Order: sequence, then structure tokens, then C-alpha cells
Amino acid sequence: MSALAMAVERRPSDSELTIDLSAVAANARTFSSIAGGELMAVVKANGFGHGAVPVARTVLANGATRLGVTTIEEALELRNAGIDAPILSWLNTPDAEFRLAQRRNIAISVPSTTHLAAITASAPGAVVHLHLDTGMARDGAPPDEWAQLCQSARRAELKGLVRVDGVMGHLACAQDPGTHTAQMGRIRFKWGLRVARTAGLRPKDLHLAGTVATVVDPKTHYTMSRIGVGLAGVDPTGSVVLRPALRLVTPIVSTRTVRAGTGVGYDHTWTAPRSTTLGLLPVGYADGLPRSASNRAEVQINGRRCPVVGRISMDMTVVDLGDAVGVGAGTPAIVFGPGAQGEPTVAEWARWSDTIEHEILTGLGPRLHRTVLPDLGVWA
Ligand SMILES: *Cc1c(COP(=O)(O)O)cnc(C)c1O
Repeated sequence: MSALAMAVERRPSDSELTIDLSAVAANARTFSSIAGGELMAVVKANGFGHGAVPVARTVLANGATRLGVTTIEEALELRNAGIDAPILSWLNTPDAEFRLAQRRNIAISVPSTTHLAAITASAPGAVVHLHLDTGMARDGAPPDEWAQLCQSARRAELKGLVRVDGVMGHLACAQDPGTHTAQMGRIRFKWGLRVARTAGLRPKDLHLAGTVATVVDPKTHYTMSRIGVGLAGVDPTGSVVLRPALRLVTPIVSTRTVRAGTGVGYDHTWTAPRSTTLGLLPVGYADGLPRSASNRAEVQINGRRCPVVGRISMDMTVVDLGDAVGVGAGTPAIVFGPGAQGEPTVAEWARWSDTIEHEILTGLGPRLHRTVLPDLGVWA
């Protein structure tokens, strides 16, 4: 729930984002049966836009045993809400609040000897997972620094300064397990585990797979899978039946009839080809509808698809209502939903915006009122 939403009482005329936790619960159960080992639910970026705390509670009741986040701040939000499951935080600068993390029982990923030194100095006794770069060239220790990181971590462990519980990697090209790059990622992780053991470490939590690798490549499962976008109902491989959890509904603010030839919105990127009725929606790119979906996206009004016309602007979007009858100010427009009633989906919005569903989910703005529907249990 955003600060704005708490400060202002919701009116029926507001845009409303509904989060269906029973969908999240179903997805968690699906992934806990697919994953060979434990299920770590990745609830970074406010639970992929679904609300970190409600999503965390839901997945922990439906098969997940751990939580993963980027920053310590994200981990603290979960702890402060009373969640006591194991949490791993994997993206921190060396001057991060490691001591606070350790006091709140938050495990930390270590991508470099610089981070390790900072952790042993400020948070002796911290639980850590060493992070190997398995092909991203992004985070994680580069292979040529790995042996040194493992040896330093083992020395620190012998002095009681850290406890190395895990080793993690992340695959750049998981989609097709047969490709050279996918194979290189797996080989590098296996090699990294050998190096860690040779250094005397005995990590028990070995994790490489995200959503895609978990679905397509059981060889990546090890003892745990880190599942993020899959819990939000997105299967980038298109092979698992999942349930999208979000629905965005917004009311028509006003309608107007325009003559053929009327230019609409900034830069007149759309001109009415005939006389028609336009509807104004009070959502725009500040609310997470990408401007790149202008003149491509659709919404559903009274069961009919209506095209977005002209540029999506910061706060507003115009749709062509055509000759729709019984549509006026206050009529709800479904921007997206699970798709069961023919409404647009987040996947369609991603296509219209030339992006991936992750970006649509995590880009939804704080101005949208959020309503959380509780998980009604296995039989719902
Ligand atoms: C975001 C993230 C995940 C989750 O990835 P999905 O593809 O959304 O399941 C897993 N591991 C790391 C390191 C991540 O940053």
C-alpha cells in the first residue's frame, strides 16, 4: 500500500490495482513441485509489484521456505513486518548495514573480497553465501577471483568471523539448456563448487536457477531454486500453467465526440479517421503504462476491446470508444487482468511496449490504489 493510498481514502472513481493472493499461492505450490530442492521466493522490487510482505506471507504458507531480496533494506521491510523465515540479500555496497542485517538474521551474498572484508569487520559471525559470476558479467565474483574469495572466506570462517552457508550463481542464457552459453554457466557453477570445497568450505545451500532454469533445466536445480517472476504468474518459457495475480481497472473520466480529422494528444500521433467517441482514462506512464504502447495497446470496456489512441501521457490515456452505447463517465475500463474474460493481459502490454512482463509488473506506480484479495486456500 502506497503512502498516498493510505493518506487518501479510496473513492469508487479511482483507478484500482487488485492483487489476488490466491493466484500467487497457486503459483508457489506449482513451483515447489517443479523445483528439485527448496523454493526461495524472490520478493525484490516490492514483490515484483505485488507487495513484498503479503506475497512473502502467502508463498511461505504455500511451499516456499526462504525469501530472497536485493538490498538489506528490502530484507528489513520483511523482518519489520514480523516475517521470520530465512532471508538472503544479494546486492549491497561494501558500506551497507551488515551489522544490522546480521542482528536481524539476514544472510548476505558476498561477491568480492572487498565485501567479505567489510562484513568480517562490521558484522563478525554473519551468515553468507558466496556469489560466483556464472556468465552474467554483472554481479558475482569473476572466475579469476573466485579461488581467492573462497580461501579468504574459509580463513574468516576458521576465525569465527563468517559462516559460509551457501554458494550461488545466476544464469545469463537459461532459456535453451542445450546452447553453449547455458552449458558454460552450468560448468562454471560446478567448477566453483569444487573450488569452494577444495578451499575447505562446506556450503549446504547451492543455488543457480531462477524461474526459467527451474522450468527447463533440472540440471540447474541443486539444493534450491530462486523463483521471482514465476510467482507473479509469468512463465517466460510458456510451458507451465500459472495464474496472473493483477487486475487494473480505471474509470472513464469523460467522453467526447470528435469529427473525422481531429488530432488526439501530444504531437497528434493519431488522427480520427471518422467521427467517433473518445474516452479519457486517468492513468498514464507515471502509473506504469509505457508510453511506447501508444497507438498499440487496448483496454476492455463493457466486454469490448477499445484501442488506445494518440500518445499515452503522464497521467492520461485516450481510447477510441467507437460507437459504443451505454459507455460514459464512470464506466470501468479494464486495463489488464488475468485474461479469462478476454481482457488484455500484462503479457499483451509487454508486447505492445516492446518489453518483458517483469518491467510492466515492477513499473506500476504508487498512485494506483491497491486492494489485496486474500488467499482463500487450496480449494479456492
Ligand atoms: C531477480 C533474481 C532472481 C529471480 O529471477 P526470476 O527469473 O524472476 O525467477 C533470481 N536470482 C537473482 C540473483 C535475481 O536477481
